[in-house]
Amino acid sequence: MKNGTVYDIVIVGGGLAGGLAAVALARAGFHCAVVDAANPVKMREAAFDGRTTAISYASARVFRRLGLWDAVAHEAEPIRDILVTDGRAKSRFNDGAVSSFALHFDSEELEDATPLGWIVENRFLRNAIFDAIETEKNVDLFAPAKRAGANFNDGSAEVLLANGETITGSLIVAADGRLSALRGEAAIKTNEWRYKQTGIVVTVAHERSHEGVAQEFFLPSGPFAILPMTPVHEDGQITKHRSSLVWTEREDAAPAYMALDDEAFRTEIENRFGSYLGAVSLAGPRWSYPLAFTLAQSFIAPRLALIGDAAHAIHPIAGQGYNLGVKDIAALVDVVTEARGVGLDIGAMTVLQNYQRWRRFDSATLALGTDLLNRLFSNDFPPLRFARDIGMEAVGKIAPLRKVFMRHAGADLGSLPSLMQRDV
Ligand SMILES: Cc1cc2nc3c(=O)[nH]c(=O)nc-3n(C[C@H](O)[C@H](O)[C@H](O)COP(=O)(O)OP(=O)(O)OC[C@H]3O[C@@H](n4cnc5c(N)ncnc54)[C@H](O)[C@@H]3O)c2cc1C
Repeated sequence: MKNGTVYDIVIVGGGLAGGLAAVALARAGFHCAVVDAANPVKMREAAFDGRTTAISYASARVFRRLGLWDAVAHEAEPIRDILVTDGRAKSRFNDGAVSSFALHFDSEELEDATPLGWIVENRFLRNAIFDAIETEKNVDLFAPAKRAGANFNDGSAEVLLANGETITGSLIVAADGRLSALRGEAAIKTNEWRYKQTGIVVTVAHERSHEGVAQEFFLPSGPFAILPMTPVHEDGQITKHRSSLVWTEREDAAPAYMALDDEAFRTEIENRFGSYLGAVSLAGPRWSYPLAFTLAQSFIAPRLALIGDAAHAIHPIAGQGYNLGVKDIAALVDVVTEARGVGLDIGAMTVLQNYQRWRRFDSATLALGTDLLNRLFSNDFPPLRFARDIGMEAVGKIAPLRKVFMRHAGADLGSLPSLMQRDV
């Protein structure tokens, strides 16, 4: 295509959300352009993003239906159990303490014993998405190419690139991340606050297998998550058991931890991790991400729809940020497909309002829920500690309630778009 093509949809941002949107919308028959400021060669490299993502089973259905799951399945570790514990890290002044109240979510309790999700390294998700984009005839990739402006007109909209090119489409999708400039230019306000917390991410190796158990250990500075990764094999033998850590630390304390030498950093990890998987060693570089909450007050404007972190950036405490974005994409596919089917303009506000109705309330509920969870657990205030331990005990004892939590973790509740529905 290219050369003066008028696209159906122009997607600004080719991250995990924008990239997946391009594939999903193209497969639904829309001609798409996707624009990203970064170089796709660099975006594919391991050094670009050290995170893993907990992919819910509803999101995995989207990857499967788009034919992307086969490319990541061998790198996706199923989450069989989630264990949530309240505690304090070991330090010079105490031996560490784990509350006797723990919550246990076991995938065996679900009717079909589906894993509660899968842990996948972001680089594998990104590579699967880019491979699909490169072979998809309905998508043109403009990258590296920075968006510098946009015009929204009666019959179409234009994305202006810094190199002077203009890309025209009926609808523009803003997938340009938490700080979305496109959202700001469309005068869409946000509710936002910083968490004064930093997410420290690192891969560790340990002696024993994690057996597919994800641990969330609530420490006063924030949650410390141990996420099961696929083991490393050599000559058909497992040579390394691995987990990805998301260690939420106070913003003012994080730089000192990031600056520690490897052995001191490893000791700090061991103080939090404990010894239940044997000796722990570092198995990759450290990364840090400032954590903030951002919720757009509207997910739409004339000829504009917001998806992914541009619409909602949330605390990683429940591993749901990207999963919300995947649901945005699946819902948008249904909304624009239905509009096209009856001959409507896919950029018209009457059409986009259906997307907004479907996604904004659902996103706001989950975003605020994760915010509350973080506030409740990221402190050492005795009455709150007592209340949350009693709450954990109650949820732990009521099987139907546990199942609701597990369905939430699987993003399998509420009105699901076609790409996310269960097979019948
Ligand atoms: C520590 C941590 C752990 C997480 N763990 C999980 C998890 O387990 N499960 C989960 O579901 N979610 C998780 N998340 C959330 C998840 O990582 C994000 O929701 C997701 O990466 C957002 O993707 P995105 O494509 O919307 O935004 P981004 O990744 O920010 O992508 C935006 C893209 O837009 C491009 N762009 C920006 N401006 C321009 C411009 N002017 N012109 C052209 N291109 C532009 C950028 O180059 C970028 O590629 C986690 C987040 C953190 C911080």
